[in-house]
Amino acid sequence: MREDLRGIGMTSQRTRDRLMDRMQELGISDPAVLEVMRNTPRHIFVDEALASRAYDETALPIGHGQTISQPYVVARMTEALLASGPLRRVLEVGTGSGYQTAVLAQLVPEMYTVERVSALIPLARRRFQALRLRNIRIKHADGTLGWPEYGPYDGILAAAAPEHVPHALLEQLAEGGRLVIPVGAANAQTLVLITRTAQGYSDEVLDAVSFVPMRAGSE
Ligand code: SAH
Repeated sequence: MREDLRGIGMTSQRTRDRLMDRMQELGISDPAVLEVMRNTPRHIFVDEALASRAYDETALPIGHGQTISQPYVVARMTEALLASGPLRRVLEVGTGSGYQTAVLAQLVPEMYTVERVSALIPLARRRFQALRLRNIRIKHADGTLGWPEYGPYDGILAAAAPEHVPHALLEQLAEGGRLVIPVGAANAQTLVLITRTAQGYSDEVLDAVSFVPMRAGSE
């Protein structure tokens, strides 16, 4: 592995190991999720000036008013998405830095991700290349519309919070598929797991959370 990917000091494997101990204390128990996060260099997903804080249990700015989600939230959402068994095709709304995408891409065969801020896309793409993740398709688009061409999806994960669950995301969920999404106005969001059943949809509230808003349109 290249030196910059392996990390040194505050970005070293030991720092990552400590973060995973912390994840387990916070209740993350899926060994596959912990293993992938242990081996994914989060420091390459943030600006070099912030690299020494990449393994803190905190969200960090990635420019354009957006943030990389805190490690616990990434772990929690990934674990919730995969809790019913392996998923084949997964869509993410809100690529951002690409960290959540990279984690998921190591756990499912086909990963799709959409981001509405065009400037973030080449940065994310470069990181996927550096990690040799070849099962990711990324598109600049408004993710409230999903990505109909490749649907239905066995799992959908939203990294930004709409006030109401977009209809397109529900429609693009396969039967038995799972949607993990923060919903609600700022300061009053909850993380929800929605499952599509033969009869309709069922939902379960997971946690109180704080995400950037999901905005319609793209820039
Ligand atoms: N998963 C990301 C989190 C980034 S923050 C990471 O690990 O870094 C959420 C992202 O959602 C932001 O980049 C924001 O631009 C994007 N976003 C907000 N509304 C969106 C929409 N309607 N469609 C696609 N992306 C959206």
